[in-house]
Amino acid sequence: MTETAIAANLAAARARIDAACARVGRDPEEVELLPVSKTHPQDALRAAHAAGYRRFGESRPQELEAKASGLADLGLGWVFIGHLQSNKARVVAELADEFQALDSLRLAQALDRRLQALGRRLPALVQVNSSGEPTKGGFTPDEVPAAVRDLRALDGLDVRGLMTLAANTDDEDAVRACFTTVTALQARLRDEHGGGFDALSMGMSGDFEVAVECGSTCVRLGTTIFGARALSAP
Ligand SMILES: *Cc1c(COP(=O)(O)O)cnc(C)c1O
Repeated sequence: MTETAIAANLAAARARIDAACARVGRDPEEVELLPVSKTHPQDALRAAHAAGYRRFGESRPQELEAKASGLADLGLGWVFIGHLQSNKARVVAELADEFQALDSLRLAQALDRRLQALGRRLPALVQVNSSGEPTKGGFTPDEVPAAVRDLRALDGLDVRGLMTLAANTDDEDAVRACFTTVTALQARLRDEHGGGFDALSMGMSGDFEVAVECGSTCVRLGTTIFGARALSAP
């Protein structure tokens, strides 16, 4: 995709986010558009950088390492959004600026050890499986309150909210039900834990306007910005 097309896609997606905010009386500044650049070449990230974007979503440790090194001149921020195996925690601990997919205590402990050794504290979101689909990761909504308590006890992680993927369906009501479940959970946990639990990463190319209407503070957009990914990609 050309630099011009990527810039146009970013502007169009941003306008749709702003319109969704207007429909529900939200301040558009509360919602980040996170371009998800996984599988796309470094030139695509350079194009989005030229359009003003500084943070990018990636989901494979090896690819993150290659991009962080190849694009080091841009000083980008890396948001890791995919399932991470504990034995790959080093890459995220060293390179990521945020981790959005805390889906087990074991992984969190592995990350925490690496982070403490590096003297880093990493902003992180707890992933919620809001659809109940077995292929999706995350804690069930019932498990989340206890998990958040355990995860917030780890000094290397700054656990500041929730992340979810909605049901994979065209049924807007089903999608909305996933998002509202997570929004309600987050509100409850914010009451329990006080400020600093404000982040809510929800919404992808197919459902981000609904997510914004439901309170998302970060929409993760891949296809809408950079075009289709190769079929073998996660
Ligand atoms: C790939 C990915 C996205 C982006 O998906 P699109 O439908 O292409 O926008 C968002 N979130 C996560 C967790 C992903 O893995």
